[in-house]
Amino acid sequence: MECDVLIIGSGPAAWTAAIYTSRARLSTVVATGSIKFMKGGQLMTTTDVENFPGFPEGVLGHDLMFKMEEQSKRFGTTVVQEDIEKLDHDSVGHLRFLAHHSKGKIFAKAVILATGASANRLPIPGAQDNELWNKGVSACAVCDGPLPFFRNQDLAVIGGGDSACEEAHFLTHYAKKVYLIHRRDTLRASKIMAERVKNDPKIEIIYHAEVIEALGKDSLEAIKIRQNGVVFTKEVRGLFFAIGHTPLTELVDHMNIQKHPNGYIKTEPDSTKTSIEGLFAAGDVQDFRYRQAVTAAGTGCMAALEAEKFLSETKVGSAC
Ligand code: NAP
Repeated sequence: MECDVLIIGSGPAAWTAAIYTSRARLSTVVATGSIKFMKGGQLMTTTDVENFPGFPEGVLGHDLMFKMEEQSKRFGTTVVQEDIEKLDHDSVGHLRFLAHHSKGKIFAKAVILATGASANRLPIPGAQDNELWNKGVSACAVCDGPLPFFRNQDLAVIGGGDSACEEAHFLTHYAKKVYLIHRRDTLRASKIMAERVKNDPKIEIIYHAEVIEALGKDSLEAIKIRQNGVVFTKEVRGLFFAIGHTPLTELVDHMNIQKHPNGYIKTEPDSTKTSIEGLFAAGDVQDFRYRQAVTAAGTGCMAALEAEKFLSETKVGSAC
C-alpha cells in the first residue's frame, strides 16, 4: 500500500491530522494499532471528557474518538487496524518511508507519528506480571474498576495527579472505600480535581506514603504501606497505578531520532518537525507538558499542515 501521509496512532492527534490531510486531498492512511497499541489510545480508558470544547455536557472518551474517526473517513482517510511494528526509510521503493505491520507494508511520502504514551507501573514486590498483576493490580481503573471483583471492596490508587484523582473518584461508584496513596503532602492534580477527591467521603488520602508490597494468594488481599517510616497493612482488593506515562517511541528508536532526556520525541520549536526529514510528531509522544486531548488535537493539526507544506515543496515519487 502507498500513500502521501501515513499517520501512526489513533488518538486525538492522529484523527485530527487525518481530517486535515484527507481534506487537503492527500492520500492518507491511519494505522490505528490493534493488539500492542490500543485503537483510540488513552481516551478509550477514560470516562467523561469534560474539557474538550464543543461538548457542554461532556463526552465519553471512546465516543469522541469514534466521532473523530468518522469525520476523517468522511474526507477519505483509509484506516488500517494494525500495529506498525517498525518504521524505516524506504530503501526498496520510491517513497520516503516504509512501515511494516503483521499483514504487509505501507509506503509513505511523509509520516506523522502520533503513538501517544502508555501508563507507568511500579516494581512493587507482589504486583508484577507473574504475581498479582491483573489479579487485583492494574494500571487502568477505568478499564478494570467496574469488574464485579472490585465491587463493594476497599481499593487503592497510587498517584497524586489528575489521573489518580479522576480514577479514585471513578472507583467510588463501585468501591466501598478508596485510598489515594501519594508520595508527597500536596496533590499535583488541578484544583478542581483535588477538591473533588478531598470532599469525597468515600476517598481517604494517605499522604507521604508508598506502597512497598502487594499481598495475596490467588488475588490481591492487602497492601503494605510505608508512611513517614512506619509500615502498616491495609486490606484492599484492588491496587491501581496512576503515576504518569511513558512515550511510545520504539517504532522509531532505531532511526536515531532526537529525543528529550525524558524520552519524549524532540520537535523544532513551535513545530511538529522531528530531526528526521518528513517525519512529524504530534500528541503525547512529543508533549510532556500539556498532555491534553485538545492540545494533542492541536499538534495533530500542526503536523498535518506541516506535512502538506513539506510534500508541496519536495517531490517524492507518487502515491495512490
Ligand atoms: P502526572 O500529572 O505526571 O502525575 C503523576 C503522579 O504520579 C504524580 O502525583 C507523581 O508524584 C506520581 N508518581 C510518579 N512517579 C511515581 C512513583 N515512582 N511513585 C509514586 N508516585 C509517583 O500524570 P497524570 O496524572 O497521568 O496526568 C498527566 C497529564 O494528563 C496531566 O497534564 C494532567 O493534567 C492530564 N490529565 C487531565 C485529566 C482531565 O483534565 N480530565 C485527567 C487525567 C490526566 P509527584 O506529584 O510527587 O510527582
